[in-house]
Amino acid sequence: MITHNLGFPRIGVKRELKRAIESYWKSELTEEELRSKTKDLRKQNWQLQKENGIDLVPVGDFSLYDQMLDMTTTLGAVPKRFGSKGETVEINTYFDMARGKGSAGAMEMTKWFDTNYHYIVPEFESNQTFKLSSEKIFEEVKEAIDEGYQAKPVLVGPLTYLFLGKETEEGFNRFEHLNQILKVYEEILTRLKDSCEWIQLDEPILVLDLGKKVKEYFKEAYEKLTKAAGQMKILLATYFGELGSNEDLALSLPVKGLHLDLVRAPEQLDSVLKNIDSDKILSLGVVNGRNIWKTNLATSISTVKKATEEIGKERIMIAPSCSLLHVPVDLDEETALNPEIKNWMAFAKQKCKELQIIRDSVLGGDTSVELKANENALKSRKESPLVTNKSVQEKLQNISKEMLTRKSPFPERIKKQNENLKLPLLPTTTIGSFPQTKEIRKVRSEFKKGKIVEEDYKDSMKSFIKEVVDKQEELSLDVLVHGEPERNDMVEYFGEQLSGYCFTKNGWVQSYGTRCVKPPVLFGDVIRPESMTVNWIKYAQSLTDKPMKGMLTGPVTILCWSFVRDDQPRSVTCKQIALALREEVKDLEEAGIKITQVDEPAIREGLPLRKKDWKDYLQWAIDCFRLTTSGVKDETQIHTHMCYSEFNDIIEWIAKMDADVISIEASRSKMELLKAFQDFRYPNEIGPGVYDIHSPRIPSKEEIKDLIKKAIEVIPLKNLWVNPDCGLKTRNWEEVIPSLRNMVEAARELRKAVNQL
Ligand code: GLN
Ligand code: ZN
Repeated sequence: MITHNLGFPRIGVKRELKRAIESYWKSELTEEELRSKTKDLRKQNWQLQKENGIDLVPVGDFSLYDQMLDMTTTLGAVPKRFGSKGETVEINTYFDMARGKGSAGAMEMTKWFDTNYHYIVPEFESNQTFKLSSEKIFEEVKEAIDEGYQAKPVLVGPLTYLFLGKETEEGFNRFEHLNQILKVYEEILTRLKDSCEWIQLDEPILVLDLGKKVKEYFKEAYEKLTKAAGQMKILLATYFGELGSNEDLALSLPVKGLHLDLVRAPEQLDSVLKNIDSDKILSLGVVNGRNIWKTNLATSISTVKKATEEIGKERIMIAPSCSLLHVPVDLDEETALNPEIKNWMAFAKQKCKELQIIRDSVLGGDTSVELKANENALKSRKESPLVTNKSVQEKLQNISKEMLTRKSPFPERIKKQNENLKLPLLPTTTIGSFPQTKEIRKVRSEFKKGKIVEEDYKDSMKSFIKEVVDKQEELSLDVLVHGEPERNDMVEYFGEQLSGYCFTKNGWVQSYGTRCVKPPVLFGDVIRPESMTVNWIKYAQSLTDKPMKGMLTGPVTILCWSFVRDDQPRSVTCKQIALALREEVKDLEEAGIKITQVDEPAIREGLPLRKKDWKDYLQWAIDCFRLTTSGVKDETQIHTHMCYSEFNDIIEWIAKMDADVISIEASRSKMELLKAFQDFRYPNEIGPGVYDIHSPRIPSKEEIKDLIKKAIEVIPLKNLWVNPDCGLKTRNWEEVIPSLRNMVEAARELRKAVNQL
């Protein structure tokens, strides 16, 4: 009964990979130096895993940017615009694909299933050829074997690779390339088969709803691959959910082993145990690869025991639920965490150790000390007053239907709001943040380090706010914002002020390429000890007669961008956050703020992988938004904001949020998105973004006018707002001022034209 790992974080304990690659980009490191650094990192990672009880280490899970891009490189599937020639794809071409070069725009990047990791989307067109174009996997396998490890190469499987790609040519179906692609995979397997006992092919799309065709491709593909693999055994890895309707398919493939995610989907074990062929190995994913909590070892042990009793211990492997890519490397680095809370956690290294303990326990080894420690940690977490707060639990029990509903329906509210706000037609506003300049970041970081006192910090922030308010007045925007200078990050800022949250010093997780994030950790019941934003907003409002928007991050977004508790449903945690925010919304109203915006950019990414689970999620997610925003008077206007997504398939639910105004990213798609709002007859007000803030380009007045005109065609004029796509914090003032001037001017001219009609 061996332990193995599906993948290890590649960034290094101290984000060494990030530093090395970024230095290479700046030409401070040569290619050779970069390669030697990454070699060291791989060595370290294998050693760490081995020392912590992993028998079979993953090889090829390491990447300079992304494992999907690695596959693109391996298959020689470089899009033409990058002009790759020669036998192998060069490292600079590799980075160009990820980051773009000159007129050759970067390949698209999108979220890997429901994680916060982003992969580079493969591009396909009809007259494309594929051939083995990288030695990466062979070199890394050799490296591992030379170091004395039992190596298990890991590759993204061919169906998942194709499925997650896109056609760049109309009328073409990317699966037409399957055979060509399989040839390359076959070549890889043939070359590896004498040096490895196992190869892992990741096919996480097996947890999605798949069409008939794709299921057939699976059969064809895995018959060929099994032949090519010869003596080497293929482990088909599925994760992030249950096989469900694909279970028969997965079990029918002629592979030697199957990996199941038993953290997300423990129920599937029974039927798989019953139906799996007697010559197959089952890999049990019993340690959560997606979260930072200690495993309940007793539960995992009993799961594994049950499986061994049914099919025999020789046929069982033990692993994390998915790659450990999604958790930080080593908890031992966290020297500043509250020791009590730290004792409830496990990062990648600690999770490897857990696998070892589970295995040893099932095999009858003496693990009593470790098990006792685990039991104590779980008990301490369960009983800790840090986690449970009676008053929060009570409030949660007392949420009534009325609390989820505004006092009057929108048509009545909007009348009162219009009287209250006296805004012109096509009111102009921005989404919240303004450029986060060096000076702003410096003040924040000095305050955090204790180098400046609170008074001085507040004074500086106030002066930044004043600057932003003055600039907006000068620009004649209609609804102003305070600019968010006090916020490092839209989730962390609130996490820091809510009890129930803690923060790691080094808990980095790769988000894309060299970009890492450090999600805050929500470990306990959520309380808002005092108001979080009111003083800043009140100050900002005191500087102007125009309405100042209160600015909050919504409960679903806070949930999605944190490591959250696993001891209660996500919906309950979300409700707690919503209750805390509800108080904030009311306090803002009390402070005289007439408009509050509650951002929910993450609402779509929280959607479950399978459609049948959507409704349940959307129901509680929307309820949480309503709980946050429904406590105010009719006169108070609630805005929400969303970006980076298509909303067509959840438009009804967006309407159910019942925000008075929604602002939404739209300029890149040239207002395409509004069709959904038109077809559905979205009842409330909308501000489709008319200025693409992801680009340094300054949009002209004319092009903004064109976009607004397009919007006027589909949205009733009186419901239309004018605003950028998203916040402006990543831009600089030189871009922002002229862009907003053009935006305001465009709105003003159209307003005039309409009024003359
Ligand atoms: N209010 C936030 C800002 O302006 C919204 C950010 C977002 O949507 N991601 O920065
Ligand atoms: Zn946004």
